[in-house]
Amino acid sequence: MTKVVIIGGGPGGYEAALVAVQLGADVTIVDRDGIGGACVLTDCVPSKTLIATSVRSTYVREAARLGIDVAESDGRPGVSVDLTTVNARVKRLAQAQSDDTAARVVKEGVEVIPGEARLVDPRIVAVGDRRIHADVVLVATGAHPRELPSARPDGERILTWRHLYDLDRLPEKLIVVGSGVTGAEFANAYQGLGSEVTLVSSRERVMPTQDADAAEVLEGVFRRLGMTVLSKTRAESVTNTGDGVLVTLSDGRTVEGSHCLMTVGMIPNTADLGLEEIGVRLDDGGFVQVDRVSRTSTSGVYAAGDCTGVNMLASVAAMQGRIAMWHALGEAVSPLKLSTVASTVFTHPELASVGATEGDVRSGRIDARVVNLPLDTNPRAKMTNSKDGFVKLICRQHTGIVMGGVIVGPRASELILAVSVAVQQRLTVDDLAHTFAVYPSLSGSVTEAARSLMQASPE
Ligand SMILES: Cc1cc2nc3c(=O)[nH]c(=O)nc-3n(C[C@H](O)[C@H](O)[C@H](O)COP(=O)(O)OP(=O)(O)OC[C@H]3O[C@@H](n4cnc5c(N)ncnc54)[C@H](O)[C@@H]3O)c2cc1C
Repeated sequence: MTKVVIIGGGPGGYEAALVAVQLGADVTIVDRDGIGGACVLTDCVPSKTLIATSVRSTYVREAARLGIDVAESDGRPGVSVDLTTVNARVKRLAQAQSDDTAARVVKEGVEVIPGEARLVDPRIVAVGDRRIHADVVLVATGAHPRELPSARPDGERILTWRHLYDLDRLPEKLIVVGSGVTGAEFANAYQGLGSEVTLVSSRERVMPTQDADAAEVLEGVFRRLGMTVLSKTRAESVTNTGDGVLVTLSDGRTVEGSHCLMTVGMIPNTADLGLEEIGVRLDDGGFVQVDRVSRTSTSGVYAAGDCTGVNMLASVAAMQGRIAMWHALGEAVSPLKLSTVASTVFTHPELASVGATEGDVRSGRIDARVVNLPLDTNPRAKMTNSKDGFVKLICRQHTGIVMGGVIVGPRASELILAVSVAVQQRLTVDDLAHTFAVYPSLSGSVTEAARSLMQASPE
């Protein structure tokens, strides 16, 4: 029986464990914080739970436009959020999800050892004094928030997202440093909960890695709802002043707030694991270098998830972990394909995307046609007062094969599946256009976008 030892019980680790037991291996997970990992306990699951509350508050605040009477205070629709209750729910839900996942892996026959692991040999994992021999090792140790020396989080006023759920009151004036996906999600979430928010962005627009049209729509929404977005400037330092924070910007300006949330990237959890000592190559940022079947440079040692920096998403971590096990245990396996990964920024409205981008088309990397259909022409969007957003579809110039798409709108995370299926299955815009969408529905805009990309057949 092949002995598999997995270091880290996040999605990269536990999904791999489930595949390995299914294939008959003897599997142990060593994890120091809890099954489900940072994904379930501190990052993805808690943030999306908080965002669910924020989105509901925004809906209530906007309900008057749909004819619903909402009691007003100070001339504003009266929504107030009890952050203690919200955070208690967030933590309860995260812990329950971790417990469910732990119960599932144990039920499937995986041994779970709580503790901190390190490799003393490619075939030996150490946990305290214990030595566990392995035929195959999977490193899935995740990552932690990057900190700036001049803005060290103190957990009181200067925070990382992992401190947020310990707050007992809503920050009155929240300054969010960093306008990537995490920064944008939290800035928008706290705006929805009722905080006054300033977002510090080092770039010209927020979310520079996302579709430019989508980022523009979202920045417009943020600003319209009162967020201050400071562009093309960096936080040089952040100081806790006792009853607030003072953020000094690279252009000399200062911003005062009650709290500052730092979202300036992630550092892989690869130090002190003994990786380089056993020949596992790391890149300059400390990320484990892997190939498309999750192999490291050391035979028998695989790596998956955020510690590889390949694409820091739970779904990608899980797929890398599964692929590692299929490969290690001799199953037929397709290498990881990043061109079909769907992802969402959970702002309100949501921004979901998959596959090729308009940037790929503009740069000439692919020969394709693009359509952008604003949501404000969609009847369902009008009914629900969801005017901000669009459906963008990209298809190959000659064949019409769908190569990618972007959806900005309510529940875009759900709507994108139709485009994902099309990209994965190499469907054409004709295939999508001939698919029935419900009338009236937001997904009707996906089929309509496909119809507008159809071309008359040559005579
Ligand atoms: C705020 C935020 C929101 C996010 N939202 C989403 C989202 O909506 N959708 C999405 O797909 N992704 C999201 N992500 C990304 C997602 O959380 C990560 O991609 C995912 O957690 C990666 O899984 P992983 O298994 O690599 O690592 P993790 O989930 O970090 O798990 C790693 C585990 O390894 C353990 N560990 C580390 N070192 C050791 C050691 N030496 N010994 C034993 N155990 C160890 C840790 O304790 C942890 O339990 C979000 C990230 C952040 C920061």
